[in-house]
Amino acid sequence: MRQEMFYEQGLKFLCQPGCAACCKIPGHVQLSPEDAANMARLLGMPENEFIASYVKQSDKSWRLAERPDGACVMLDEQDRCRVHAARPKQCRSYPFWPEILANEFTWILEKGTCPGLDVGEYFSRDRIERILKGEEEAGGFPPEAKHVEGE
Ligand code: SF4
Ligand code: SF4
Repeated sequence: MRQEMFYEQGLKFLCQPGCAACCKIPGHVQLSPEDAANMARLLGMPENEFIASYVKQSDKSWRLAERPDGACVMLDEQDRCRVHAARPKQCRSYPFWPEILANEFTWILEKGTCPGLDVGEYFSRDRIERILKGEEEAGGFPPEAKHVEGE
């Protein structure tokens, strides 16, 4: 029998147009080499140039660099993601991350960052678990709010 989770009956989430709060948390965005390759392709840059310009590497992880104000380097001045169609898996799965789904308290705590929690679209437990496994996206960062066609 599977373990009962606090989101047994599902959760609601809808990214709010005009909000970019989660893109402004310093040092927040981990990425894989595959994510970097996808973003470099979208921007029409050689992969090594993209990594040299935008990726901070440590022994354990790769993270996107930050703007001087601490926001993600891919966020433009109008709060749009410059790589929306190729944004990292971490961005695609937010807010359904293990640390946010640990318990009801961690979910409620995240509401201090994200105004899209507990409103809008319904996500069943099964769907949340497919997102956790990387099999589906959460649908955050909607194009109308964060992306300009042709960029
Ligand atoms: S996911 Fe939440 S915090 Fe991030 S831009 Fe959307 S509403 Fe704002
Ligand atoms: S959605 Fe785009 S701007 Fe926001 S954190 Fe992810 S890569 Fe950066």
